Amino acid sequence: MFEQLAQELAVLEAQALRRRLQVVEEVLSGGRVRVAGRVLLNLSANDYLGLAQDPRLIAAAQAAASRWGVGAGASRLVVGHLALHEAVEAQLATFKGTESAVIFSTGYMANLGVISALMGPKDVIFSDKLNHASIMDGIKLSGATLQRFPHRDLDRLEKFLQKTPGGKKRLIVSDSVFSVDGDLALLTDLVNLKERYGAWLMIDEAHATGVLGERGAGLAQALGLTERVDIHMGTFSKALGSLGGYVAGERRLIDYLHNRARSFIYSTALPPPVLGAIGQALEIVLKEPERRAYLLQEAEGFRLGLKKAGLDTLRSETQIVPVLVGDNGRTLDFAARLKDQGLMAVALRPPTVPPGKARVRFSLSAAHSPEDLAQARQTIIKVARQMGLAS
Ligand SMILES: *Cc1c(COP(=O)(O)O)cnc(C)c1O
Repeated sequence: MFEQLAQELAVLEAQALRRRLQVVEEVLSGGRVRVAGRVLLNLSANDYLGLAQDPRLIAAAQAAASRWGVGAGASRLVVGHLALHEAVEAQLATFKGTESAVIFSTGYMANLGVISALMGPKDVIFSDKLNHASIMDGIKLSGATLQRFPHRDLDRLEKFLQKTPGGKKRLIVSDSVFSVDGDLALLTDLVNLKERYGAWLMIDEAHATGVLGERGAGLAQALGLTERVDIHMGTFSKALGSLGGYVAGERRLIDYLHNRARSFIYSTALPPPVLGAIGQALEIVLKEPERRAYLLQEAEGFRLGLKKAGLDTLRSETQIVPVLVGDNGRTLDFAARLKDQGLMAVALRPPTVPPGKARVRFSLSAAHSPEDLAQARQTIIKVARQMGLAS
């Protein structure tokens, strides 16, 4: 019965597309990990502010566990909505500058829940081609008609909007920072379009929460557009160091999600230790803007160095810096050679990226020292030259 599965895996193997788990044996300070007995500089994680190992988050998680236990005991609507959930959601709404907010167990579940709750088979969703997989899955689950526009091609989006018959519910959805290119949504233009065509706009700030904006709330805040975005989605699993997804916006939206988002209703509430960590992370993001300033400044230097050496970093403007290779096998080879040199970076291949656009992606963190990043940059350029990828 599983013979067919083995055959499919063999096909993936032949295309250099098969994935395998690797064990991280130890998480070390300075954004390092030990894998197969070797200490590597970790340029693959999403722990952008270095909070996952922060003693204050650990202490807050422990304190929450001591007071409330390790499990919420039920789903939120049953009896799992602890005072701790209530408090952290209020803190989150203040952080985001919205009337209300709701926390899901993961960002993946937030996207599934919100999109499928708001949209149905009679509705139309306009989605950037590079949006995260969880957005795509939410759209499929909703049964809505999907109009996928090429990455950041707002002319095409506008044509789609013009062609959609009036009277249909329309939702435009976009990542704010794109996870595979490290570039930004054209949010000002998206807001103008959604207002002109009477659509809703949802943005996924997974990679921007804690990183962009005056108070770290994301791209909408950075551009002063909070009020003009209908649905703010994001995660605590990246820069905020732990786990959980959120949706922030008007109270009417959040009340509706409590009633209609199935991934919220039919799943156990996030456990107290995680909520303790989230609450603490939100405080640190507000109190320590120097973390995100350092991260973005280092990312800029890192990217410029790679570009000067002739590498293609696409349109990255953030802490996510891709280096385009193209071919799957060569991309794997590049990542393997970097690993030999002590750098851990992911090879992104289809279907995560379009065919022919395989790349190695570097994710920077405030946990990395300037010395380590300068050294990493030199190593990447050296290896790229050996492979004929850089001038
Ligand atoms: C990581 C990510 C998610 C999913 O968040 P999790 O909390 O890891 O489930 C959703 N959207 C985007 C853009 C992401 O990068």
